[in-house]
Amino acid sequence: MAKNLQNWIKKNLISRYVMTDCPEEERCLHVLEVILDDESTLDEEQEYFAHIEQCWTCYQNYNLEKAIRELIKTKIEKKPVPDTLLKSIKLEIEKLTIE
Ligand SMILES: [Zn+2]
Repeated sequence: MAKNLQNWIKKNLISRYVMTDCPEEERCLHVLEVILDDESTLDEEQEYFAHIEQCWTCYQNYNLEKAIRELIKTKIEKKPVPDTLLKSIKLEIEKLTIE
């Protein structure tokens, strides 16, 4: 259920905005998932965080992915979505559209 929601959000919101100027975006996205699932090695993490400091695309992906996961977690726990979270997601999406 969480996976479906995640895919829906990606398809409907993010795919329209994601920039593709990172030569290794596919790989970065994969590493990002591993990191957020807490299954990454220290090496992978260090490499990834060094990369997003220089790569705007991956930095945006990181923030969005994190926000989406927070949102899904909140939904699953059936708690109301906090305003601050909704705002930060909207802000991230707006930032992407401005680019
Ligand atoms: Zn990148």
